[in-house]
Amino acid sequence: MRLLEERILKDGQVFAGNVLKVDSFLNHQLDVQLLSEIGAEFKKIYSDCDITKVLTIEASGIGVGCMVAQFFDCPLLFAKKTKTINIKGDVYTSKVESFTHKCTYDIIVSKDFLGKDDTVLIIDDFLAKGNALLGLIDIVKQSGAKLAGCGIAIEKGYQGGGDKLRAQGIRVESMAIIDEMNDETGEIVFGTR
Ligand code: 5GP
Repeated sequence: MRLLEERILKDGQVFAGNVLKVDSFLNHQLDVQLLSEIGAEFKKIYSDCDITKVLTIEASGIGVGCMVAQFFDCPLLFAKKTKTINIKGDVYTSKVESFTHKCTYDIIVSKDFLGKDDTVLIIDDFLAKGNALLGLIDIVKQSGAKLAGCGIAIEKGYQGGGDKLRAQGIRVESMAIIDEMNDETGEIVFGTR
């Protein structure tokens, strides 16, 4: 998506450790107009899928997830992160290794809001190694719902998470795919899949 690529080049900051900061429009302050354009694009891409639920992970997936859900006229459901293991019978739970915080946490989703009659589109702001998506996919599997695919705002393609999932037959669509990122020069190179 050209609009997003241009915005990344204009306002994104490359940090050491493969981290792209996009706080001015995606991760802290939200450019709602841009998120709405992203929502419209995912609606086009997944128009044939009868999505009944958009699933994301707190906190930074919620903004983009809301806009996507609006276009599908369905609820946005976000997995909650928790440090205390909460294995009550009324939640689905999975473990995720955090890319940005270098720790492992549990994610939970209430069984009240996801079940076998749902068709799910998973949305997130970033895709790096794929751990966040793997946790969400695990929860969709536990619920018996159908997974239509995943929609990502910014995929760092060179970190391999997206390709690993695609190789498993999971549909992964990204609005911008970064193939190279240099924290010394700030250079960002986009690619396609
Ligand atoms: P993964 O689980 O695919 O390795 O990483 C995805 C998660 O880590 C996303 O939910 C996102 O919040 C965070 N993340 C990964 N890479 C970046 C990055 O370069 N910048 C920011 N802001 N978040 C990232």
